[in-house]
Amino acid sequence: MPHSPTSNGGAPWRATVLTLFPEMFPGPLTVSNAGQALEAAIWSLRTVSIRNFGLGKHRAVDDAPAGGGAGMVMRADVLAAAIDHACSEELDAPLIYLSPRGEQFNQVLAAELAAGSGVLLLAGRFEGVDERIIAGRALREVSIGDYVLSGGELAAMVLIDACVRLLPGVVGTLASLDQESFEAGLLEYPQYTKPREWEGRTIPEILLSGDHAKIAEWRRAEALRLTAQRRPDLLNPPRSGEKS
Ligand code: SAM
Repeated sequence: MPHSPTSNGGAPWRATVLTLFPEMFPGPLTVSNAGQALEAAIWSLRTVSIRNFGLGKHRAVDDAPAGGGAGMVMRADVLAAAIDHACSEELDAPLIYLSPRGEQFNQVLAAELAAGSGVLLLAGRFEGVDERIIAGRALREVSIGDYVLSGGELAAMVLIDACVRLLPGVVGTLASLDQESFEAGLLEYPQYTKPREWEGRTIPEILLSGDHAKIAEWRRAEALRLTAQRRPDLLNPPRSGEKS
């Protein structure tokens, strides 16, 4: 998968998160590769507090679900005000609502988003958002997996981290990205390092042979074997129009 420079004319890749909990950011994104890249202004982060757009004395952002039922729903009018405010400064970034109902986030989507100018992410809370905001602001719904989180903030961090490490200059060598899981539609081959023998387990001889062609062949065969065993769906992806 190509790791192209951002299409932003050298400006930092920009993540904007609309959230009820801006204090959660940058959180874990300050450490390691993502943190260093944030400091080096390879990417930037902005949070927009949805509470600032809440209604009345209590800055209400949610209300009871129409038709009854448990929990509360985030209001479309409040979210629209927050989104429109964020969009006035961020015209060309895709607008994503983190949602367990969304398309599955994966490496292909991470690469697509990393190649753009940035992302605008809406983190939901409670029972989620009023359905009308999704169509009303053309939100792309993206899920990070088949489980339900308490809020979209952690999902936003997962998405941002996966994108940021694809930006040029964030991870040491491009080669190390090219060989990772999912890059060629395969899981990664097994990795080893020193010591040569540990608790009676040795490194496969081929990796110590110095024969780079043979090593590459072994790695590809192992990647195929692991993918067939653990994720056969990656070898036979559904054709467009087919349901996965
Ligand atoms: N009632 C919703 C449902 O069943 O689909 C779940 C709401 S969840 C408690 C609150 C918020 O967490 C959602 O609005 C969404 O922003 C976020 N969220 C939860 N699970 C997620 C997932 N797997 N991927 C992305 N965002 C998620």
